[in-house]
Amino acid sequence: MRPLIAAVDLSALRHNHALAKRCAPGRQAFAVVKANAYGHGVREVVASLRGEADGFAVASLEEAAEVRALDDQARVLLLEGCFEPAEYPLAAQLGLDLVVQGPEQAEALLASAPCRPLNVWLKLDSGMHRLGFSPERVRHWHARLRGAAQVAELNLISHFACADQRGHSLNEVQLESFLELLDLEFDQRSLANSAAVLALPAAHMDWIRPGIMLYGASPFADLDARELGLKPVMTLSAQLIAVRDIEKGESVGYGATWEADRPSRIGTVSCGYADGYPRHAPSGTPVLVNGRRVPLVGRVSMDMLAVDLSDLPEARVGDSVELWGAGLSVDELAAACGTLGYELLTRVTARVPRRYL
Ligand code: PLP
Repeated sequence: MRPLIAAVDLSALRHNHALAKRCAPGRQAFAVVKANAYGHGVREVVASLRGEADGFAVASLEEAAEVRALDDQARVLLLEGCFEPAEYPLAAQLGLDLVVQGPEQAEALLASAPCRPLNVWLKLDSGMHRLGFSPERVRHWHARLRGAAQVAELNLISHFACADQRGHSLNEVQLESFLELLDLEFDQRSLANSAAVLALPAAHMDWIRPGIMLYGASPFADLDARELGLKPVMTLSAQLIAVRDIEKGESVGYGATWEADRPSRIGTVSCGYADGYPRHAPSGTPVLVNGRRVPLVGRVSMDMLAVDLSDLPEARVGDSVELWGAGLSVDELAAACGTLGYELLTRVTARVPRRYL
């Protein structure tokens, strides 16, 4: 087998979930498992949290059906709602909680005849301006949906744009906008993503919606996941598959973008951009070989990348390489590449075998 594996530590996942619950005592939690549980494998993640998670949140009806098949008890929240009128009866059959984020969806819901009423989450656009109704339109739809035959619980939901930046003025604006609707009778309210779970207790409401923190990455650019008490869940591990010595002035990889400024030992690693490693990772990006940091050199190829082993002369073919995980945080790698842990985790491709611990 090609030596590349994404090891997923399910006990770390459960630790992080328990931490999220402890941050918001007495509140319920939708564990966000969209995008194949942020790349970790939705089947195993849902099975691992079964009985502990109050609910799961997903981004599509297909994802919701998959989660419902794995857990017939937990609430399953479809974050973006249904897009076809025909989907409302299916959503009801699956017993989903449904976000309604636009007038087309609200009208289609009212025109539908589901087999049983649905829990509906009216989405407030509190300031992100991506999905949802203005506060005035929330009042309008509250009046129309409350008591409708298609609706069981009528709930309120919104989403932060800048919760990852503590102290950002938009956080207060969004929280205020949410609280201004307190006079309306909603059964449940939900506002907090991971960043707000950790740093904005006033936003916890009835249901928190932790995503990235469950997977052990930090939602904050300036705070390390370990400082937050989170444990990394995925470790992406490869091996050295070739080692060679090159002369000063010789180059490495496509485009010959990196040139040795001294006689150098180059290691080739069995992981490339087709596995989800960021192609734009610059030379100097840290990689762990036998637990020691060495710099990436040259362009990342489809199936391989290269590292400079000159300061690690004892490294041999077959030695272990960690791209991110327990020894090198996905957040540090993301920062080195100008991206986010979210993107790296969700981009690990299907050809990388996941091994569950
Ligand atoms: N709620 C909604 C509506 C989302 O779209 C997301 C993720 O994008 C989350 C919650 C979870 O966010 P995070 O992963 O930052 O905790």
